[in-house]
Amino acid sequence: MQLSDEGIDAAEIRDRLAMAKGGDIDWKNGRVGAYIHYAGEDVLQVAKDAYLAYFSENGLGSRAFPSLVQLEKEVIDMTLGLLHGSKWACGSMTTGGTESIFLAMKSARDRAVSTGSAKQDLQVIAPRSAHPAFDKAAHSLGMQVVRVPVNGDFCADVAAMEAAVTPETVMLVGSAPAFPHGVIDPISDLAELARQRKVWLHVDACVGGFIAPFAKTLGAGIPDFDFSIEGVTSISADLHKYGFAAKGASTVLYARAEDFAFQAFKFDDWQRGAYATQTFVGTRPGGAIAAAWAVMNYLGKSGYLGTTRRILAIRESLEEGLRQLGLQVFGNPKLGIVSFGGGEFDIPSIAKAMEQKGWLVGRISEPQGLHLMLNLTHEAAIDQYLDDLRTSIEEVRAGSVATSDLSATY
Ligand SMILES: *Cc1c(COP(=O)(O)O)cnc(C)c1O
Repeated sequence: MQLSDEGIDAAEIRDRLAMAKGGDIDWKNGRVGAYIHYAGEDVLQVAKDAYLAYFSENGLGSRAFPSLVQLEKEVIDMTLGLLHGSKWACGSMTTGGTESIFLAMKSARDRAVSTGSAKQDLQVIAPRSAHPAFDKAAHSLGMQVVRVPVNGDFCADVAAMEAAVTPETVMLVGSAPAFPHGVIDPISDLAELARQRKVWLHVDACVGGFIAPFAKTLGAGIPDFDFSIEGVTSISADLHKYGFAAKGASTVLYARAEDFAFQAFKFDDWQRGAYATQTFVGTRPGGAIAAAWAVMNYLGKSGYLGTTRRILAIRESLEEGLRQLGLQVFGNPKLGIVSFGGGEFDIPSIAKAMEQKGWLVGRISEPQGLHLMLNLTHEAAIDQYLDDLRTSIEEVRAGSVATSDLSATY
């Protein structure tokens, strides 16, 4: 495609975009178990209105837009309140979980370098279930992630992680929950190890940070995972997942301001004066900050408790349906992620049969299975999902769908 000579009129642009979208997955009807978090039309409207109100404003420009500084501060304060930060806790909004994790790792690296506790080949010890963002960050930061096999319940094996610690280790990682099986690592045990070895503990609550606190209040058997545990150094929690904010919004949080101080980058050796940022990016979408603030204030604790209760109910009825089909749920997921399978099922072929029925199927590779991250679009879709799963299993058994060797892709 070439840039048009004269430009195209706005109505035509709208039509073309609507057409372009036509081939995408029908996510509003619950056909995809990843990428989307939805808590109702009202929440979406609140987010959109706030985003548009700050569409052009730039979070980099604190001198021009003090209101964005204040909105961000309030988002961080509300989030620290949920995650039991003390009065010394602080943090920033970022553009997503990957940036939050990158920044926590950069801070841990720079703290280690500044104290001389480790000098080169800085190591991060993570369970095998940790998100690829840790390796992505390590690749850029000159660090190395050592992935340690998990236990039979798919949670971090703390003894094996302890055995992997070396003098170069600067950070331990635990997830609350991890993306593959949706299970929460034993953060208290990891924190004790981190205290003993005097290393950083990052809790990746990207997908859990805005659902686990409410599930805990609802009595869903959620273990402690946040700053209530001494030894948790930093937490990542994504507003654009179960915070139901517009995309481009996450938080990175620190138990103590002196660790947060390693996050910033300052530079003045050019012609345009001192340049300082707290986060990785420069220009920041004001809309994403305003939308997160708006949705958090719109929902409040009771709104999040309500959506959490509904998501947990969807997961429970899904698990019940899976058991009736003879499928096995992996581990003991307690939040909005479920993965399942079973040795006697031809998972790749079942996944293919499901895709032929219009589902975008999430997959997991260890063990082979299917994967879903639930939101409120699934409330109306889950019975159809289970029906189609039953049919797909029968079709594969009868040999009426071609077998597939499709591999799992995020
Ligand atoms: C989504 C996710 C991330 C990465 O977040 P992005 O917003 O996609 O960059 C990291 N960790 C976990 C557990 C996640 O679910």
